Amino acid sequence: MFREMRRNIQALPDDEIIAVLNLNSNGVLACRGDDDYPYAVPLNYIYFNKKIYFHSAKLGHKLDSIVKDPKVSFAVIDEDTILSETYTSAFRSVIAFGKARITENPEHTEAFMALVEKYSGDQPEESKKHIVAHCERACIVAIDIEHLTGKQAKEFVK
Ligand SMILES: Cc1cc2nc3c(=O)[nH]c(=O)nc-3n(C[C@H](O)[C@H](O)[C@H](O)COP(=O)(O)OP(=O)(O)OC[C@H]3O[C@@H](n4cnc5c(N)ncnc54)[C@H](O)[C@@H]3O)c2cc1C
Repeated sequence: MFREMRRNIQALPDDEIIAVLNLNSNGVLACRGDDDYPYAVPLNYIYFNKKIYFHSAKLGHKLDSIVKDPKVSFAVIDEDTILSETYTSAFRSVIAFGKARITENPEHTEAFMALVEKYSGDQPEESKKHIVAHCERACIVAIDIEHLTGKQAKEFVK
């Protein structure tokens, strides 16, 4: 049921899609929000075990939205270089469609640890362990990916 890309020549190969997901730190989750208005909310994330994970408070617009309707999409912008002389942009981005769900253990802790590894930089191991020990305070949401595409501007097409 997912659409084909119209300009297929601009489609990214699978390995480059994964590289974009691994290299970047934020994306925009689109879900069906209050009164069916689309709710697009920026989030940090990790691509881990072929899923997208993010942490969240246990309450709020985004959690309520995905509990009501798990169908979501998640967009990551990797590159956006404005080429003013041609009135265009040299872009590269990835969009995932899938269903979001609140994880339970052991997946919750595994994904939480992966997020900590991605975002903790050179924090001491003790500090990371402390954060992980309190990981029950956060909700970890998984997006089970059903359709994943990447697209790049024709300027990047080899
Ligand atoms: C780069 C980036 C990374 C982030 N990473 C994370 C993350 O990993 N996990 C996480 O939980 N949150 C993250 N946030 C914050 C996130 O965007 C939300 O603000 C937060 O998750 C609360 O969402 P909510 O729907 O529960 O908020 P609620 O307070 O329930 O939202 C109520 C209303 O507040 C407004 N609102 C909420 N968030 C924003 C926003 N970011 N900008 C403008 N208006 C807003 C909207 O109108 C929304 O309908 C990040 C934000 C940015 C910009």
